[in-house]
Formats: sequence, C-alpha cells, structure tokens
Amino acid sequence: MVKNIVVVAIQGDYASHAEKAHEFFSGSSVFFAIKPEDIPSSADMIILPGGESSAISLISKLSGLDKKIISEAEKGTFIIGTCAGCILLSKKIANPGKAEPWKLIDITVERNAYGRQIDSSFKTVTFSESRSKLAGSKKCEGVFIRAPKITQTGKDTEVIADCQGSPVFVRQKNIFAMTFHPELSEGFEVYKIIEGIIRERQPS
Ligand code: GLN
Repeated sequence: MVKNIVVVAIQGDYASHAEKAHEFFSGSSVFFAIKPEDIPSSADMIILPGGESSAISLISKLSGLDKKIISEAEKGTFIIGTCAGCILLSKKIANPGKAEPWKLIDITVERNAYGRQIDSSFKTVTFSESRSKLAGSKKCEGVFIRAPKITQTGKDTEVIADCQGSPVFVRQKNIFAMTFHPELSEGFEVYKIIEGIIRERQPS
C-alpha cells in the first residue's frame, strides 16, 4: 500500500520520522529529500517533520522543494505534516515570521501558541469517535514541542483529534496535519488512522 515514503530532511527530527514510518509501513522504502530531485516519481507519501517552520520554509523555497511538494499534493500523494510541517501546510499562519504557508489544508495556525521551548509537554490527545475505531484506542499521548495551535478549520477539514478544546490532528483529502510529534511516542495510533484513511481512499 504505502511503498515509497519521502521524509523531508532539511531540518528537524526527520530521522525519528523515517524510523517510525518504516517500522509501521512494513516493506516500505524511505527516501530523504532536501531538494526537489530527491523525490522519486514513485513517492506515495511525503512527511514534513517538526523543526523550525521558518527555516524549512526558506530553504525549501531556495531549491524549489516547496513547489515540488505542492505539485505532489495536487497529484494525490499523501502529505503528512507534523508541528512545523503542520504550520507549512496551513492556509494561513496568524504570526508567520519568515514562514510562508503552502495553503494545502484549510486551517489557520498560531505558532508557538503554548509558549516557549520550556513549555513543551506531554498531553492527552482524544480521537473523534469514528476515527478511534481505526486507532484501536480513544486516546493517545501527544508530544507537544513549542507547538502551534490550530485556531480555525475550514468546512472541508476533518478534525481527527483534539486536545484541551483545540483541534490537533486534521485532514483535508490527502493532506494530514498534526501539531504534535507522533514519531516520538511509543504507540502507532496516529499511523493506524492514516493507514485506515488511505485504505478508504484507495479501495483495493
Ligand atoms: N515552533 C516551531 C515553528 O514555529 C515548531 C516547533 C516544532 O516543530 N516542534 O516552526
């Protein structure tokens, strides 16, 4: 199903993402992408890690990686953005700094909304009733590191999970965004939901 996974490796915790995705999607190959030409034509999933959204935004713009990911998204490649990745996928960043949103999912985000680095924490993430079946659990642990908040969602944006009254895991078509770091938790709940939704969209 998911065979060729690309992890954007400009900055941030791309190594943990590669390990965790490879473990979950058994038999998959993982490619690291810094430039557009690093993305193979056979890519079926692109992961944008957490890190610093302004750095990833600026560097990917210089090489054209941003445009390449946008065109992959338009082709239907599954795109997963976590934390800084979520910020870049958004339609609007309330406090963008030097980060430019790629407008792939109809959400507004506020960067660093929980405070500074030292305000990072573990919080309980609760899945929507329909999606908790895919996860095999109603909740999971969320690792929030200088995380953004999703302050608005469009009418076509599905809220898959929330935390303390805010959406933290959302989807629109083939684009998934979450404000926490699923690659740093032990469980695979988030991956199970993504896999389940991919199955729904690609009936065998
Ligand atoms: N605060 C970072 C930003 O604005 C995101 C932090 C993260 O990805 N863990 O890009």
